[in-house]
Amino acid sequence: MTDALLKLEGLHKSFGALKATDGVDLTVMPGEIHALIGPNGAGKSTLIAQVAGSLKPDAGRVMLLGENVTTWPVARRARLGLGRTFQVSSLANGFSVLRNVMLALQARKTGAFGSWAGFWASVRRDEGLRAEALGVLDRVRLTLRAEDPVGALSHGERRLLEVGLALALSPRLLLLDEPMAGLGPEGTKELTAFLATLKHEAGMLLVEHDMDAVFALADRISVLVYGQIIATGTVEEIRASAAVREAYLGDHLHEKAGGA
Ligand code: ADP
Ligand code: MG
Repeated sequence: MTDALLKLEGLHKSFGALKATDGVDLTVMPGEIHALIGPNGAGKSTLIAQVAGSLKPDAGRVMLLGENVTTWPVARRARLGLGRTFQVSSLANGFSVLRNVMLALQARKTGAFGSWAGFWASVRRDEGLRAEALGVLDRVRLTLRAEDPVGALSHGERRLLEVGLALALSPRLLLLDEPMAGLGPEGTKELTAFLATLKHEAGMLLVEHDMDAVFALADRISVLVYGQIIATGTVEEIRASAAVREAYLGDHLHEKAGGA
């Protein structure tokens, strides 16, 4: 049997009287894209934060690559192999795409910037870093954008770059919280196709509202409602589940069919 990349065991997290995570068990296997869906406020982001390490569970365990990382800080989990998308929006809009990628790669390796002047001096010295940054751009097909200011990138291009940066650290498990948000149909299609190519490189825990993307990508889907997983199964199983349709999916599909 292959060991799970991620195993959540009896996870609980409350905010006051609100049980945002109410006894969650979930596994992500190697090569698996596991989608987490559910209505707004179900606790999806709260769960992701506990996996990433930015939020401590009240009870339960987070097992990552066989290690109990429940009390580990974010950076230590990242070093073990946990990736999450990098917020390109936090980068310097005036600088080129290439410089921003070099900055991001450097910052994530050292964990700290130190002084800006010292940072740029070290960047100029580091031809390896430049090559690595060009590699990231090549992977997400943004090579032609290397010298453009990062502020000129479209939403979709930024999102691809965020995933590319996450991949630069060779994560074994990638956390994605609504990667399609704000992308139009074209951007969503492009990012969906790109994520599909990554399957054998990293497992994914994918929170996503766009059901076309979820159905196209997911090996398994877990449905979270009021902090509890009410169903886990394949795309076919989840689509066919009466409980899921009642709690969430039916309404959502109706909206899609009826609206827009
Ligand atoms: P989702 O991502 O599924 O939309 P969230 O995990 O963001 O849901 O939120 C789950 C519930 O927990 C919501 O009711 C939200 O208001 C609440 N919540 C999230 N974070 C906090 C917090 N830091 N303090 C208090 N309540 C929170
Ligand atoms: Mg959320």
